[in-house]
Amino acid sequence: MDISLDIYSPTQPIESKLFADKGIKVFIKRDDLIHPIISGNKWRKLKYVLQQAQAQNKTHLVTFGGAYSNHLLATAAAAAKFGFKATGIVRGEEVENDTLFLCKLHGMQLIFTDRESYRDKQALFNKFFADNGQAFFIDEGGASAEGAKGCSELVDELTETYDHIFCACGTGTTAAGVINGIAKNNLPTQFNAIPVFKNGEFMKVEIDRFLTAPANYSLHLDYHFGGYGKTTPELINFIKQFVVDTGILIEPIYTGKMLYAIFDLAAKGHFTPGSKILAIHSGGIWGLLGMKDKFNRDLADF
Ligand SMILES: *Cc1c(COP(=O)(O)O)cnc(C)c1O
Repeated sequence: MDISLDIYSPTQPIESKLFADKGIKVFIKRDDLIHPIISGNKWRKLKYVLQQAQAQNKTHLVTFGGAYSNHLLATAAAAAKFGFKATGIVRGEEVENDTLFLCKLHGMQLIFTDRESYRDKQALFNKFFADNGQAFFIDEGGASAEGAKGCSELVDELTETYDHIFCACGTGTTAAGVINGIAKNNLPTQFNAIPVFKNGEFMKVEIDRFLTAPANYSLHLDYHFGGYGKTTPELINFIKQFVVDTGILIEPIYTGKMLYAIFDLAAKGHFTPGSKILAIHSGGIWGLLGMKDKFNRDLADF
């Protein structure tokens, strides 16, 4: 079977009085529209990984994630679509939630593991699959050089040149791929990474692992909102306003933080008037399923 998807990821303007006042233009690349479940950067990261599995005649994908992992869900759906078996090794004690429900619905087997064992992914893989010649290891979050290669193709699709590109970072694979794509296409674009973790300086090491050549880019460390999976009422209110104003769904774990950063930097005069800025909508809106209570708390007064 040919492992590919027809990519539908248009670039659309984001209208806002703030951007008009500052004389900047902001666009969003809708990678969230690539697939309803294998969305955004998760498909881009999986594409060459699955092709590699297929080339090695592996039929069983084994990967890792937290209980709300978009990567687990994307892998489950991609496995179903392209005819693989899939096992997800899930961090933490056994739970049920909407994400894992969807993983199981796509046929993924789940193995829950304590946080201590979870640290050593290769050891876990060996523990359960050492004797299974069909099993294929995919790292947490799809972090890999193949993943970065898939993400670099996002840049090949651009038909205009931007002064800035912004992307949220978890493993840094998507950022690395986009930076590689900027270099490959000889673009004058400044890349801006928004780590979604507290103390995100370490993201530079993570990104640099997958760069094809050393590159300069900006890390904005102040948009973590307390850390991974953490939010504040300010972020939640920003997301609600953004969704109402644009009709584009975003979530608090990744894309909400990245877009908040663009609005905040614009308000602070960070961008030269005339700048063109591209936000990457890396998908992941299923992450909202784990955050419903955060929204419900004050949806009433919105
Ligand atoms: C997984 C995810 C990311 C993080 O991508 P990395 O390549 O791991 O840095 C960013 N945005 C969304 C929506 C995601 O689901």
